Amino acid sequence: MKVNTLKDVNVKGKKVLVRTDYNVPMDSDGNITDDKRIKDSLPTLKYLLENGAEKILILTHIGRPKENEEILKTDKPAETLSKLLDREVKKVDGWGEDGLPESKIVMLENVRFSSFEKSKDVTERDEFAEKICKNADLFVMEAFSNMHREKEASMTSTLKFLPGCLGIASENEIKTIENALENPQRPFVSIIGGAKADKLASVENIMKKADNVLLAGVLAFSVLYNKGNYMGGTKIDYDNLTNYSHVLENLGENVVLPVDAVIADEFSENATASITNIDKIEDGWMALDIGPKTLEKYKEIIKDAKTIIWNGPIGVFEFDKFSFGTKEIIKAIAESSAKTIIGGGDSAAAVKKLGYGDNIGFVSSGGGASLKMFEGKTLPVIEALEKNKNIFS
Ligand code: AMP
Repeated sequence: MKVNTLKDVNVKGKKVLVRTDYNVPMDSDGNITDDKRIKDSLPTLKYLLENGAEKILILTHIGRPKENEEILKTDKPAETLSKLLDREVKKVDGWGEDGLPESKIVMLENVRFSSFEKSKDVTERDEFAEKICKNADLFVMEAFSNMHREKEASMTSTLKFLPGCLGIASENEIKTIENALENPQRPFVSIIGGAKADKLASVENIMKKADNVLLAGVLAFSVLYNKGNYMGGTKIDYDNLTNYSHVLENLGENVVLPVDAVIADEFSENATASITNIDKIEDGWMALDIGPKTLEKYKEIIKDAKTIIWNGPIGVFEFDKFSFGTKEIIKAIAESSAKTIIGGGDSAAAVKKLGYGDNIGFVSSGGGASLKMFEGKTLPVIEALEKNKNIFS
């Protein structure tokens, strides 16, 4: 790696600022309903404690606060973390500008409560980051899911003021995705679906590396429309067909498209559903899932795969009638012996909703960040860490 990892730096006696992602799901009372993201940070925090760090300051974002909503404060994550570590985690209201309590582990406030965190003005972002960094002498980046975001003070500006490194979970996540893309066991199959055709950026990169790229969702139907199929009332992402015309003109022969679809007479759970070949969709009907022939074709390819990368639901899985494709593809992935990476966000939600736990593969903690990697791009925060290594070496 061109960036430092936790094992490359000396943490003994250091005050360490750890940028985590505790943007955890909560119910309407603010109770955490899934603490996976907090658990993911434990190896890094335990490593720091076991290797003699003097103090740990935890910095995170939660949600998209408009005002400083009570529910988006970091008190609950601090409580959960305290239970998981079985030691005190002291929550403070700001970011330590006026000093910090004695406690070994301190949870700072939701960093997005400050308007400077996402300020358009880089000077404002830098000044805010510098203030937070004053209390520390090492920075650990453990927020993989936010690493595609460049213009956030806590993600990149901080790396101008403190020597930095990757945390254990982020390092693992990056290596897992990099390995799958660069050294896949073959056959290497990628499945890309979802609600938009901007994932053509990932198709462009992955089709050069994978044996097969199976398309689904609005992405697939938009590509079929672009090939001249009449798609009735199906949702088509016209803008991205234009933006990615260069990809569409050079689609590899390994890119596989649906041959049939489950269609609906309205976008609703209670719609009338029917099955039809792709070239037979009429006005008043919209494709919301892949059909049985496509499913068989895709399952046949998935069966032999040794590496699978999947991002984006196959159909409108939120409606039972149109969740069959997503369900069956997840089942096929679970039954294959492939090393699987699930690209976060809605795909992870679908896996959960449809009753498959953690045993289907590596579920990335970040949809946007993993997609950026699927596109073959370097994450902005990795670039910042590379610069940081040069500045502080
Ligand atoms: P994404 O965040 O891009 O992965 O998109 C996920 C969303 O795509 C889910 O909410 C699905 O309901 C939706 N989706 C998948 N297929 C279709 C389709 N054919 N028409 C409309 N929405 C779809």
